[in-house]
Amino acid sequence: MTTDTTTPVVSNFIRSAIDADLDSGKHQRTITRFPPEPNGYLHVGHAKSICLNFGIKEDYKARGLASECNLRFDDTNPERESVEYAQSIQDDVHWLGFEWDGNVRWASDYFEQLYLYAEELIGKGLAYVCELNADDMREYRGDFGKPGKNSPFRDRTVEENLALFRAMRAGEFEDGSRTLRLKIDMASPNLNMRDPVIYRIRRVHHIRTGDAWCIYPMYDYTHCISDALEGITHSLCTLEFADHRPLYDWVLDNISIGCHPQQIEFSRLELLYALTSKRKLNQLVTDGKVSGWDDPRMPTVSGMRRRGYSPAGIRLFAERCGVSKSENVIDYSVLEGAVRETLEAEVPRVMAVLDPIKVTLSNFEAGVTSSRSAPFHPHHPEFGERDVPIAATIYLDREDFAEVPPPGWQRLTPGGEVRLRYSYVMKCDEVIKDATGKVVELKCSLDPATLGQNPVGRKVKGVIHWVSAEHSVQAEVRLYERLFTVERPDAVRGEDGQYIDFVQFLNPESFKTVMGYVEAAVTGAAPETRYQFERLGYFVTDRKDHVPGSKLVFNRTVGLKDSWVK
Ligand code: ATP
Ligand code: MG
Repeated sequence: MTTDTTTPVVSNFIRSAIDADLDSGKHQRTITRFPPEPNGYLHVGHAKSICLNFGIKEDYKARGLASECNLRFDDTNPERESVEYAQSIQDDVHWLGFEWDGNVRWASDYFEQLYLYAEELIGKGLAYVCELNADDMREYRGDFGKPGKNSPFRDRTVEENLALFRAMRAGEFEDGSRTLRLKIDMASPNLNMRDPVIYRIRRVHHIRTGDAWCIYPMYDYTHCISDALEGITHSLCTLEFADHRPLYDWVLDNISIGCHPQQIEFSRLELLYALTSKRKLNQLVTDGKVSGWDDPRMPTVSGMRRRGYSPAGIRLFAERCGVSKSENVIDYSVLEGAVRETLEAEVPRVMAVLDPIKVTLSNFEAGVTSSRSAPFHPHHPEFGERDVPIAATIYLDREDFAEVPPPGWQRLTPGGEVRLRYSYVMKCDEVIKDATGKVVELKCSLDPATLGQNPVGRKVKGVIHWVSAEHSVQAEVRLYERLFTVERPDAVRGEDGQYIDFVQFLNPESFKTVMGYVEAAVTGAAPETRYQFERLGYFVTDRKDHVPGSKLVFNRTVGLKDSWVK
C-alpha cells in the first residue's frame, strides 16, 4: 500500500554548484558520501544529510549520469565507537530507502595510506613530531586575535621526525606524550591552521583494526584524504566545518593524491522541541530518561521508525527543510505535518476506542439488527473492505459524550442523536452514574430505519466512531507527546547565566499507556503495520512488543491535526 509521494526536485545552492561543475566538464558524474561517526544512533539531522547526499545521487542518476553515494564510517575515535552503532546506522540508511554503492567504507580501511601520506608530509618538511603536552599546546596555540607561538620542536630535521614518527607507530612512547603536527602557520588568523595535530598516541582497542595501531589520525586529516581516495566530487558537510576547509584543501594540496574534492557547507538542521546531538541523546539513554535510542519519543531515526513515522514522511520533511547556509530551525509540527501527509493516503482506517464508555443498545435484536461492511480507505477501494459488526453492547469514546454539551456540540448528549459511523443513528435514552457521579454506562436505542439511510424528517449531523464489545479486540495503546516542553531544551539559561540541564525540560506527560478496543480486523497485523484510527490519529503496531494474534501493542504516531498547544 504505497503511494507515490516523490516530490519534484527542488534546486538549491549545492545542486547549482554541481550543475556548474558538470557544465564546465570538471566532472562527468557526482560521487557524494554520508560519513557518520559510529558513536551513537542517527538522528533527524543525519536524516537530512542522508537525504541530501543520497538524493543527489538519485537525481543525477535519473538524468543519466553514473552518480554514486558512499556510506563511510569515520572511525577514528575508537574509545567512543561500537559495532552496535555501526550496524544501527546501516539499518537506518536502508530503512530510509537508500542504498550505498559498493561496500561500506571505513576510514580505518585507509589507516596505512593515511600513515604513508603523513610520512610524505614529514619528508617535505611539512609535519613534525611535537612533545608539548595538552596544556602547553593550548598555551602555544594562542587565541582569536592573539597569534600562537612556534613549538620548540618545530624545527626538527626530516630524518629526526621520520624516526620519531616511526617510533610512535611502533609503540615506543606513552599515550599522549607526542603528536604529529602539520607545519603551517602559528600566526594564522584561522586557529585550525596553527599547526594542527594530525596523529595522537592512544592505546585503545579499535572495533575493526583491534590493537594493530596505537596511533590514530585526527578527523580533519582523515576526512579529506578518505574523500579523495574514494574520488568524492562534492564533500558536503555542516557549516561548523567552514573554518576547517582551508585545512582540508591544504592537506590535499600538499600530498600526491591526485584528487581534490570540493567541500561545500550547509546549515545544520535544528528541530525545535528536540535535541540534535548524539552526545545529548546518549545522555538521555544512559540516564534512563527514555527506554532506549529507539524510544518512540526520540528524534533518532530508530525512534521515529518505532513511533510509526514513514521513510516517505521523513524524506518529505527533509525536502521541506531545504538546503542553505542560513539558519535551519524547524518546528516539530513541520515534521509531524510531513508524516501525517504521507500517511493520509497510505494507510488503512479502522475504528478504535481508547477511553471507553459502555453503551447498552436496548432495542438490539440478534438476527435483525445488522451490520454493514466498510472500505478500509474512502479513496482507495483497492485496500478492500471489512465487516463492521454491531452487538448489544458497544463502546464509545468518553470524549464523544457530554452531559451538558458546550455550544455547537455535534456529538452525543442525553436525549440527543448521533450517527454511529458505518451503522445506525442512535439516541441516548438514559445516563447511568456510579456513586462518585462518573458516567459509567449509557442506555441507547437505534433507529432501525437508518442503516445506510438518512433518518426521515430530521437531520443528524454528528458521526462518531465506536466498536462492538464482543467483536473488538483489546490492545495496549501507547500515547506519546513531545519529549520536551520548551523549544530549545539545551539552550535555556538560568538567572546565573548558565545553561540549565535539559533534563529539567523533559515533558512528564510525554508517555501514557491505555487499554483500548480496536476492530478485530487488526488482530493479525504484523509489527510495524500502520493504521489510522478514525478521528483519533495514526497508530503503528510496535516493532518490539507487538505479537500478532496475542498481544496487540500500538504506538500513537501523530494526531490527525496539529493539536500542540504552546
Ligand atoms: P552529532 O553532534 O549529533 O554527533 P555529528 O555531526 O558529530 O553530529 P557525524 O556522525 O559526524 O555526527 O555526522 C555525519 C554527517 O551528518 C555529517 O556529514 C554531518 O555534517 C551530518 N549532520 C550531523 N548532524 C546534522 C544536522 N543536525 N543537520 C544536518 N546534517 C547533520
Ligand atoms: Mg562528528
